[in-house]
Amino acid sequence: MNRIPFICGNWKMNNLVSDSVALLDGILPRLSEVQGVEVGAAPPMTSVHAVSKRLAGSGFALAAQNVHHEMSGAFTGEVSVAMLKDVGCRYVLVGHSERRTLFGETDDTCRQKVNASLQGGLRVILCIGETLDEREGHRTLEIVSRQLNVALAECSSEHAADIVVAYEPVWAIGTGKTATPAQAQEVHAHIRAELANKLGQPAADCIRIQYGGSMKPANAADLLSQTDVDGGLIGGASLKPDDFLSICIAARNSITHS
Ligand code: PEP
Repeated sequence: MNRIPFICGNWKMNNLVSDSVALLDGILPRLSEVQGVEVGAAPPMTSVHAVSKRLAGSGFALAAQNVHHEMSGAFTGEVSVAMLKDVGCRYVLVGHSERRTLFGETDDTCRQKVNASLQGGLRVILCIGETLDEREGHRTLEIVSRQLNVALAECSSEHAADIVVAYEPVWAIGTGKTATPAQAQEVHAHIRAELANKLGQPAADCIRIQYGGSMKPANAADLLSQTDVDGGLIGGASLKPDDFLSICIAARNSITHS
């Protein structure tokens, strides 16, 4: 199955507007080197508009780091799906582990955000993954199944093209520890099997499953060569244009070698 690899940066709460534009300026001129790979980033909310203006026509995919599930109203500090679309976002991250652990997001709030986003025409990058305790307790597959099935409870096969799943073991995010390629492949294959149960095999075959958790130039090629690893969600390494582009090049090479 030919899935277009998708490498997306998550800039988290980093970068003033000028830093975000400078980072983008370090990436855009080299996008021609990674044809066949979808490349994008989720800037902090204050930079989204400036980044959107700068990337016009480049094909670079703009993502937001968060969204609220209601369409409008008295929700101080929140942004809606329509607002993100209005400013040029193609994707939104849902359920990043930092949102879950630091800001109380649950599988159920993820479900609401997924539904609102897909209904409003915004594609979703649904982040799931186990903690170290859960991995050591041999509960990884059970945890990702639960996260996936609750968040996608109301989805059907017609939504497949608008869903990306990011498998991000919590113990690997920002820690420098990375899942081995075999560990990643085991969980990605399990996620695809769960997607097939829920949405049917053709839908599961077209959904990209990114790996996230200290992906960097030194380990990207091995991770991206795995059958069910279709890209990466990149935190720290996405803040350095050369590192980010090296990962994109590894993704492009994974097409050539598959
Ligand atoms: C992330 O936050 O989604 C992430 C994968 O971070 P890092 O690459 O820094 O581990």
